[in-house]
Amino acid sequence: MTATTVPPAIEPAELIWRDGVPESRRFGDIYFSRENGLEESRYVFIGHNNLPMRFAEIPEAGNFVIAESGFGTGLNFLSTWQAWQTHSPSHAATLHYIAAERFPLTRQDLEKSLSLWPELRELSKELIANYPPLISGTHRLVLDGGRVRLTLFFGDIKDALDALSFQADAWYLDGFAPARNPEMWQETILHRLTQHSSEGTTIATFTAAGQIRRALISAGFNMQKSRGFGRKRSMLSGVYEPEIPPLNTPGTPESPATSVAVIGAGIAGCLLAHNLAQRGYSVTLIDSADECGSAASGNLQGAMYVKLGVEFNHQTELALSALTFSQRLYNTQAANLWHPTGLLQLAWNPGEEDRQRRFIERNQYPADILRPVNRQEAEALTGGKLESGGLWFPASGWLEPGKLCKALAMHPRINKLLGCSITQMTASADGWHLLGPDSLTPNLYADRVVICAGHLSPQIIPGTGGFRFKAIRGQVTYLPDAIANSPKAVVCGARYLNPAHGDQDQKMAVIGATFDLHNTDPSTTVESHRENIQALSAMVPQMLSADLATGTLPEQLEGRVGFRCTTHDYQPVAGQFYNSEGREVTGLYLLTGLGSKGLTYAPLLAEFVADQITGQPAALPALLAKRLASGRMHQPK
Ligand code: SAM
Repeated sequence: MTATTVPPAIEPAELIWRDGVPESRRFGDIYFSRENGLEESRYVFIGHNNLPMRFAEIPEAGNFVIAESGFGTGLNFLSTWQAWQTHSPSHAATLHYIAAERFPLTRQDLEKSLSLWPELRELSKELIANYPPLISGTHRLVLDGGRVRLTLFFGDIKDALDALSFQADAWYLDGFAPARNPEMWQETILHRLTQHSSEGTTIATFTAAGQIRRALISAGFNMQKSRGFGRKRSMLSGVYEPEIPPLNTPGTPESPATSVAVIGAGIAGCLLAHNLAQRGYSVTLIDSADECGSAASGNLQGAMYVKLGVEFNHQTELALSALTFSQRLYNTQAANLWHPTGLLQLAWNPGEEDRQRRFIERNQYPADILRPVNRQEAEALTGGKLESGGLWFPASGWLEPGKLCKALAMHPRINKLLGCSITQMTASADGWHLLGPDSLTPNLYADRVVICAGHLSPQIIPGTGGFRFKAIRGQVTYLPDAIANSPKAVVCGARYLNPAHGDQDQKMAVIGATFDLHNTDPSTTVESHRENIQALSAMVPQMLSADLATGTLPEQLEGRVGFRCTTHDYQPVAGQFYNSEGREVTGLYLLTGLGSKGLTYAPLLAEFVADQITGQPAALPALLAKRLASGRMHQPK
């Protein structure tokens, strides 16, 4: 990192173009062969890892994992994706591609580099549309309707090997030439590939350098030299055949899941069920309500919002990953229910103004994530009169969560059991037996169960002892368009105000939401409406009618009450369940505690839990995954 790059930003690659081929100014080497980069990729990496045949043999709901050093222009990735489309089986299966990149290309450079390959145009377009902002860390991209999952680690390969949890079926070693980039080819790094390899993992590289060959042999790879591509004399490929076979890696389920039950059809449960169904798993989605997205996730509008910390620590990194992942996912999967209007985090009082100032001073965020804006610019972006500027998130917006839940649950591999309460679960020889309050509950067994039941989750978790979950009442108010100048982008502060939506004469904007720790009233109250309006008039007085701004409420204000589930440390819970003794409870997972950030966190956390259930590479690095662990939720004894 240079003195001018501050986290979370990462230094981009600097390209020089010579004879139509990109070169790295820093390393003084080419990104791919001058003869034909695409053919080189097919010959060296796809051919010498024997991928067409191996792809065709993947069983239903199976997966194949490729790991690469040096994502560069993404050419290897795209040629592999193309081979996957040609050779993968017709049933559901997932290609995981994991690549580290220390100096990522800017989106413009990526576009220019990939425009060289007309036959990859459609795949390039999808990659470019999903390419993450240039921030360090792990980015999961879900492509090709979920058949391809790309984990891009923006950082050094040696950090990627420490941070990520995966087992590769095939390696692509594609850094610049060892003489130009000796750091990447160090023997210690090559030895560490084995931590992510199993017996039979294959490897290919364009180089035939003797020291690389010797290092890979001493790590346990059986290496072969063969003819290189084009004018290159030779290259290397091999198979991992260690003298002592590696032990099963932690986190790998002992047996594949055959039946998965998801309890709770809110945004978390519906995203998870859909995610598993996409990967070829059959899921039973259960909810006591008669439709999906009927509780806290059922609001007409929800703002997609996270507050990023002044310190760039793990908590901030998790929030940022969740934000960018959910933006990508909603852009592709919920296009008609997702409204990326942009979102303004208003510097609405001196405390928030000071916090935003320190945040901007200490961090460097690319403008495609956020940028500070003054009052005039904020007014132009939101179309409303404001008292201050704030932070502008151009790719955020608002969502119709209830509709999204229903759309996600419409998948042929999802069996919906609505109007069905689960009150208890017991371990049996067939996995988990799920029981309801009466004999009408169908006899349900599943070998994997995920509890996504929000604040009701603790009632279902088996075992004894209390949990540190809290239910927080949140009432939203529907503001008719006639009495507010609702903005054209979301405005957040002490409350959020969405753009008005709906049929012409019934347009309204949702204001959210109260935060009532000690109130369990499920019906809407006038006091809560008043609280919402007062908070909003302190924040954006000029967006409300004069009556409203002075506290006069119209006769009939409508709204809705939901109960968020939050935790003692305000961080979500996602993944394998551990009991109060710290022992893993086989086949039981939690996905809850999302508080008021469910729309932003649920997509990434559902992806992460689906990775765990299927034994596929983790979307989250180990240090972030640790923050979500269920062990911390037990009430201290
Ligand atoms: N596979 C790429 C493609 O398909 O376009 C070409 C890779 S290019 C030859 C090598 C890449 O390795 C560069 O993008 C470079 O920035 C990256 N790189 C170099 N050293 C690295 C390191 N220590 N960790 C991660 N990436 C590194």
